[in-house]
Order: sequence, then structure tokens, then C-alpha cells
Amino acid sequence: MTRVVPRFDTLAAARHTSPAHNGQDEKARKRINLEEVFGENVFGLSQMKARLPKPVYQALLSTIQNGSELDPSVADAVAVAMKEWAIERGATHFTHWFQPLTGLTAEKHDSFLRPTGDGRAITEFGGKELVQGEPDASSFPSGGLRATFEARGYTAWDPTSPAFLMEGPGGAYLCIPTAFASWAGDALDKKTPLLRSMHALDQQARRALELFGSPARPVRATLGPEQEFFLVDEEFYYRRPDLVTCGRTLFGTKPPKGQEMEDHYFGSIPGRVLEYMNEVELELYKLGVPVTTRHNEVAPGQYEMAPIYEGANPAADHQQLMMSTMRSVARKHALVCLLHEKPFQGVNGSGKHLNWSFGTADQNLLEPGDTPHDNIQFLFFCSAVLKAVARHQDLLRAAVAHAGNDHRLGANEAPPAIISAFLGDQLQDVFEQLEKAGAAKSSKSSGLMGLGVKVLPRLPKHAGDRNRTSPFAFTGNKWEFRALGSSQSVSFPATVLNTIVAEAIDELCTKLETALTKGATFDDALRELLAAEIHEFKHVIFNGDNYAPEWVEEAERRGLLNLRSTMDALPRLVSEKNTTLFEKYGVLSHRELESRYEIYVDQYFKTVNIEGETGQYIAQTMILPAATRYLSDLLETAERAADVGMKTEGVLATAEQVNQLVDLLTDRIAALAVQNQELGGDDVVSKAGHMRENIIPALNAVRDVVDRLERIVPDDLWPIPTYREMLFVK
Ligand code: ADP
Ligand code: MG
Repeated sequence: MTRVVPRFDTLAAARHTSPAHNGQDEKARKRINLEEVFGENVFGLSQMKARLPKPVYQALLSTIQNGSELDPSVADAVAVAMKEWAIERGATHFTHWFQPLTGLTAEKHDSFLRPTGDGRAITEFGGKELVQGEPDASSFPSGGLRATFEARGYTAWDPTSPAFLMEGPGGAYLCIPTAFASWAGDALDKKTPLLRSMHALDQQARRALELFGSPARPVRATLGPEQEFFLVDEEFYYRRPDLVTCGRTLFGTKPPKGQEMEDHYFGSIPGRVLEYMNEVELELYKLGVPVTTRHNEVAPGQYEMAPIYEGANPAADHQQLMMSTMRSVARKHALVCLLHEKPFQGVNGSGKHLNWSFGTADQNLLEPGDTPHDNIQFLFFCSAVLKAVARHQDLLRAAVAHAGNDHRLGANEAPPAIISAFLGDQLQDVFEQLEKAGAAKSSKSSGLMGLGVKVLPRLPKHAGDRNRTSPFAFTGNKWEFRALGSSQSVSFPATVLNTIVAEAIDELCTKLETALTKGATFDDALRELLAAEIHEFKHVIFNGDNYAPEWVEEAERRGLLNLRSTMDALPRLVSEKNTTLFEKYGVLSHRELESRYEIYVDQYFKTVNIEGETGQYIAQTMILPAATRYLSDLLETAERAADVGMKTEGVLATAEQVNQLVDLLTDRIAALAVQNQELGGDDVVSKAGHMRENIIPALNAVRDVVDRLERIVPDDLWPIPTYREMLFVK
């Protein structure tokens, strides 16, 4: 039988790698002037200063820098300046830009146009439109906070994140970062609780600083998110219904070569990818996103980009812009950017490392200095973080729980589902001294390291080595929360960190204040407090290999939680402890928290449901036909061979093998179909349970046979691009 399915064109994909093919002439490439381009499309402080009346600028500045309440009367002046700036740059529309609980961003455009009634029009944009918007909110997830007939939702201008201009094909539009809430005032977005949590942390950290005798200054949380991703040629992508529909491959056998040669990580970036990254960076620079780091990651076809850290709120907005820019620019290079946590089985998945710290305008409060044993203020804040992590392991775990991340956390891939904290040798030692002697007298010094070659400089050595396996690691002057999924918004994990640490600082401050009123000196009270607190968090510190199977047992002995999957972790969100916490610090009301829980469970259910359906469809309509075609070829060959008296054992043996797999596949598709038909109950939690208990195993069973077939069905009959092609043609 001849080929029925047209085999996709690997050569066409490979050809995309040549710059000439992309119409890019190296010499003609415009030189980028970093200083000119950066922030070009942002209505930032310098634009405001130049365009706003001085008192308005001062009022705005005070809101942005000190978090003071915004005088509503400034909105009109800001709106006029913003509009003029945007229109000068070719904008025709504006939109309130917000972050609903889908984890993506949303926008609804309105033009600046106002007809004047005489057949002509002027442009207009006032304070009212700047401050408040009213998108029809009925189709955004609300988790029961809003019945569909109560469609009203409001967006509210966030002056602490600058407006920016998006350049689309054929025109530009002004984006105004906003918070999004229901008609009744419940938060329906990711930004609102983040801002509330930043406020809580600011309040408590300021209070602590005052106890330490520092002048009261605003404290802000900072974020630096590292983003991992895959790039595949669109030639392959659109031929994989699983990639298109689910963002990950549901089938695909391990290629003969995977990541075992370790030849990709930090290797020189392929030309086509570099060209892509340059364009992503250019677009992000214009938007004022300070992207800086870029490199190849561990898996073939996997890369990472990261910005320089910023205040948590703009950083979270910028992270969203980074993901959307990475996706849209890829298409210009005939590539598709995959942000899914596990696009390919058998090679590393993608995560997002959330570097997090907090500090005043001129002091990072998590900077230990060279002699941390002396830096009692640092030890105080560091203890607060450890105390928070120990108490709220469940919340940190739940904050990164979603269907995509289940393929990484607790699934033999970094980091594990057990939340622990890496401190490093030097700090570990300081805390041990504190515990034993009630005071720390020395810090293991880091010193200089010679490389045994005179011409090479002596390098300053870090006091602690890195630990790549820890989900929450102290890395010099910040904590790195490594368990985030690559596709997820950083807002909720950051919200959780801010809130739990605010609570811990609050408690430590209260204890300290009590001791002081009893007449203790500040130094004594503090040392005593810290020495006692160690017992609250000692068990969560782990400096060893988090991937080792022994760690799982050890963690269990220590009483640490091991919430392996999304559906183990999510219910913890709404425990009494966590409900009380979020309410106490005004971050999420009970209703808001419940609604989030419901939405996250629903998202899990829908994601796996779609995978189950897609898997059935591909297996039934693409894989099974390819296998039976091959079987038919083999049988025809055997018959013709027998006709001319040739031996047929080999052909028949292969036919037998294919036939067995066809039988098995048929059975397993049928079993998956039965599960797909099941609703799994009425409420969303039981539906999600059905996904985990029944759909995932049934889909994995189908995958097992499909992947075996891929290894014997002829390449030209195989209907979907293989890992060998997708991961290596670049
Ligand atoms: P690595 O891959 O070695 O962890 P990267 O340079 O890729 O390091 O990323 C480190 C990230 O941490 C960067 O985004 C950096 O700006 C950020 N970072 C540094 N200091 C802070 C801080 N005080 N608060 C938050 N993030 C920080
Ligand atoms: Mg990192």
C-alpha cells in the first residue's frame, strides 16, 4: 500500500534555520541602542515628570514610591498627559489591562474617538476612564463569587505599575495596568491580593525596622523570575494536535539521543534561537522589562531568559508581558514557544524560579553581609522567613499546584513536592551556634580561591555552595522559590510568600515587644528570641540532595508534608489555618479564598479532561489507522511472497507483533473512552478526583502502546512528528 498520510516536511523546518530564509541579512541588522530603546513605550516616571504639572507628579510619585493614597483629583491631569503621549506614538485605542484568574492577561479595547456630531471627531480620554473600567466580567472565572446574571466587574487603575504602549500589526494601543473586582468588591484577579500582601509585608517589616532603631521607611518585596521554555518549529507544532490543544505531547517515544550527553546546557545558542531572543529582548526593552540573562537549558530545544529583579508588582506585570512576548515573537521566526511544564516526556520539563526578597530603597533586608553572625537584623528577617516556610509548607506547595506542574513536582524531577529550605554551610553554622550558645560568635569565612595558575585571578569564594535541588534556596541575598511551573503567573506564589513572612515578622515583633516591656535589653531579648525560634523551623532546613529517595523518608520522619499532586495540595488552601491567615492580613477574604480554590480545582479538571479527550482522538483517528495500514502492508507482502514461493516468517512475525499492539491499543482506547464518557460526579472536586483516579491512568495506558508502536511502524506512515524531529531540528 502506498503512503496515505503526507509526511510533514522536516527539510522545510530545517531550512528555517538559515538567516537568509528568514529574510535577515546579518549586515543589515539594525544596531540596537539599549539606552534609547529601553522604556521607549512606557509612560514611566520620566515621561510623567516631563508632562505633568508638578503637584500632580509629586502626588503620583508619593503613591508609587511610598504607597500613599492617591488623590482622585490627579486622575484627569494624568489621563490627558497619558493620552497625548500615546497618540503621539500612534495609539488609537486604550485598554484596561488586567489579570483574571485564568493566569493570563485580559484586555478590551476602546478607541480615543469621540464624534462631535458634525460628521467629525476628536480624541478624548479623561480621569474617569483612566480610573475605572467596566468590562463584561461574566466569562471570567469567579468561582461562585458572581452568578452569570451578575455580569458586572470593575477594573481599577493601578498607578504603581506604569501604563505602556503595545505595538500590534498596523497600530498601537495604550495598556493601563488595573486590578479587577466583582460588582460586590471581591477580588477576581491576581494583582489585588499581591498588592494587599505587599502592604502587609511592608507594615510588619517597617515595624521590625523601628524596633531595630531604623527610621521608618517603606519596605517593598522584590521579584526576579527566571523563565524556562521550549522552542519548536511551527512545521511540527501544527501537526501535533496534542501540542496545539494541550500544550504538551501526549505521545512520543524517547529519541535515541536525549539530554544525556549534556551538550546543550549553556552551549552556544543556535543562530536562529539567538535571533529570536534578540527580538524578544528588543520588544521587552521597549516595554521597560529589564531582561538580561539568556542561555540554553538542560533539555534539547530548551532555553531560559530572566530579567533583573524589580518591585513585586511591576515585576509580576512584566512577567506576564514576557510570556506573551515570547509567544508572539516566536511566530515571526516560524517557531512556537512552549511554556508548558512538561512538553516532552523523558527530558526535563520547564519551571520558573522566583527569586524573592524585600527591602527598603537602599537596603536589601535579606543581605547577610560578610559576617552574618554579627548581622542580627539579617538573622531576624531570615528567621522570620524560615519560620514562615516551616509553618506554611502546605500553602507554598498549593501555590504551585496545577495539572502541568504535576509532571515535575514529586515525579522524579526537580524540585520535589516536599517543601524544605536550603541555607548553605555558613548560615547553617551561624544558626547552630545561636541555638547552642544563645549567640553566634563567628562566620565561616569565604575567602579567596586560587586556581593554581598564576595568570588567572584569585576569585572571591562564596560562603555557601549552590544547591540545585532545593525547592526553596537561600542564594546569597534572596530566596529562590524553584517549584513554580513555567506557565504560571508569579503573583500567587509571591502573594503567599509576602503574607506568610508578614505573619512571622508580626509574631516575632510581638514577642520582642513583650520582652522589652518586661525590661529586657534589646540585644538580650533578640538573641533569646532567635535562639528559641530555631526550634520552630529547624526541621524544614535541608542542605542535602532533594532528589535522593532517602530524603523522602527523612522528610517523613521530620514530619514534613509530601503533597504529591495538585489534588493533594489544593484542598489545603482553604484550611482553617490558611483562611485565618489571609483574612488577618487582609489579603484574601474567606469568600475570595474559597473562590480561588474552586477555580484552581476547576482548571485542573478541565486541563486533564481536555487531555483525555485529545488522547482518545489522536489514538483513534491517527495512530490506530497508521498501525493497521502497516499491518495491511505486511499481510499483503506476505501473501505476495507466498505466491512466488518466498519465505514469509519474518514478515509474518512482524505482522503478529503489530497485530498484538493493535489489539491492545483498541482495548485501551475503549477503556479511555469509557472514562471520558463518565462525568465523575456533580461537583468540581469529585470531577477532578475522577480525572486523577481514572483519566490519567487510562491515558497513560494508551500512551504506553502508542509509544511502542512508534518504534515499529515505518517512519513514513507515522502520522505525527517525533521527538527526534521536534527537539533537534532548530
Ligand atoms: P541563577 O540562574 O544563577 O539562579 P539568574 O541570574 O539566572 O541566576 O537569576 C537570578 C535572578 O535573581 C535575577 O532575576 C536577579 O535579578 C534576581 N535577584 C537578584 N537579587 C534579587 C533580590 N534582591 N530580590 C529579588 N530577586 C533578585
Ligand atoms: Mg536560578
